Amino acid sequence: MITTKSEQAYSNAQRLIPGGVNSPVRSFKSVGGVPRFILHAKGSKITDIDHNTYIDYISSWGPTILGHADDRVLDAINQTARNGLTFGAPTEQETHLAERVCKNFPSIDQLRLVNSGTEAVASAIRLARGYTQKTKIIKAIGGYHGHVDQLLVQAGSGVATLALPDSAGVPKSLAELTVLVPYNDLSAVETAFKKFGSDIAALLIEPIAGNMGVIPPVPGYLAGLRALCDHYNALLIFDEVITGFRVAPGGAQQLYNVRPDLTILGKIVGGGLPLAAYGGPQTIMRQLAPTGPVYQAGTLSGNPVAVAAGIATLEQLGKPGFYETLESRSAALAAGLSTAARDAHIPLTINRVGSMMTPFFTSGPVINYDDVLHSNKDRYNAFFHRMLNRGIYLAPSAFEALFVSFAHSDDDIRYTIDQARISFEE
Ligand SMILES: *Cc1c(COP(=O)(O)O)cnc(C)c1O
Repeated sequence: MITTKSEQAYSNAQRLIPGGVNSPVRSFKSVGGVPRFILHAKGSKITDIDHNTYIDYISSWGPTILGHADDRVLDAINQTARNGLTFGAPTEQETHLAERVCKNFPSIDQLRLVNSGTEAVASAIRLARGYTQKTKIIKAIGGYHGHVDQLLVQAGSGVATLALPDSAGVPKSLAELTVLVPYNDLSAVETAFKKFGSDIAALLIEPIAGNMGVIPPVPGYLAGLRALCDHYNALLIFDEVITGFRVAPGGAQQLYNVRPDLTILGKIVGGGLPLAAYGGPQTIMRQLAPTGPVYQAGTLSGNPVAVAAGIATLEQLGKPGFYETLESRSAALAAGLSTAARDAHIPLTINRVGSMMTPFFTSGPVINYDDVLHSNKDRYNAFFHRMLNRGIYLAPSAFEALFVSFAHSDDDIRYTIDQARISFEE
């Protein structure tokens, strides 16, 4: 596979952009090698500037559930853009998108549109603090909620202790507003509430972890979190930036039948353009300015072009059989990868919920971040490069999800499994 143009582009980019990328994981730092610079993408396929084409399972890290450059989404974008790109004044389309989201998520009466998942999380935390008049946030080790200062933290020693900064530039005093607990461990959350309950504003969690690889909640975990939050008068915030519209029309909260106080959406809801949202019951959402005392604003919030892309995308998800088709192709991929690994005597645990999954190179099970760290990263990296060279584009990190889109055909899945079989054997 020839990659000379990507190599050149990478070295040009590195002169002008830190590390040559505008988001760190794109740099291939974890797997080594040269990041591919992209020329175009359509459906399940993505093509780099050396004209190598890959079956893409990154899916832009989640948004492209219809596949790349879906014609109906492009039409909506084009039509809307011709009427003006941004007004700094409301449009009816924002209400239409809000209506769709509220219909899918019974826990949401009202929502605010913002520009990124990070912004939605930061705003939801402020809102939770304003509403509860408390300050601390509980979060899971290995969970990711965007690059919000107080969430870029690592655990100190001991269970349920105040966190330490995990990035330069994060003040210790902000990190200490976060309490870290292992994922899928209810008793750790109980300990945290016992220690800090009077000052816990919210528990923020990915209801299906997607940023340490995919880890589903163990039975009873989410309901247990709900009960603890109720008992200690803290808000339960589900970060459904990945899972919203991905695992079910109403996200993980529909799948597991647990109702959060606030929900954070991103990725799919913007149809591939920068848009995210946070929402919940009116009693909480009304605390936001201009109706309430919690301030939050944005020049490009509810941008008409992004809103149009979001609506056009959600329209497709509502068609009969959409999630069933996605499920059967995703199940076929997971089963095929499992069998191929077993035949090659390679321990592999595939965690999957619907069209999001991670193959962990370990005999498993993988239920928290500690288990993730005990999977074989070198094996993943070798697998990643063999697959890439065969035209399959997986996430350039062992600890991420792969996403199947509606555009992935049965042939794409079969081809992927065949290439995985050869890669495992090698
Ligand atoms: C991607 C992601 C975010 C951050 O969203 P950005 O749009 O990248 O800021 C937050 N939470 C989760 C669960 C995510 O996967």
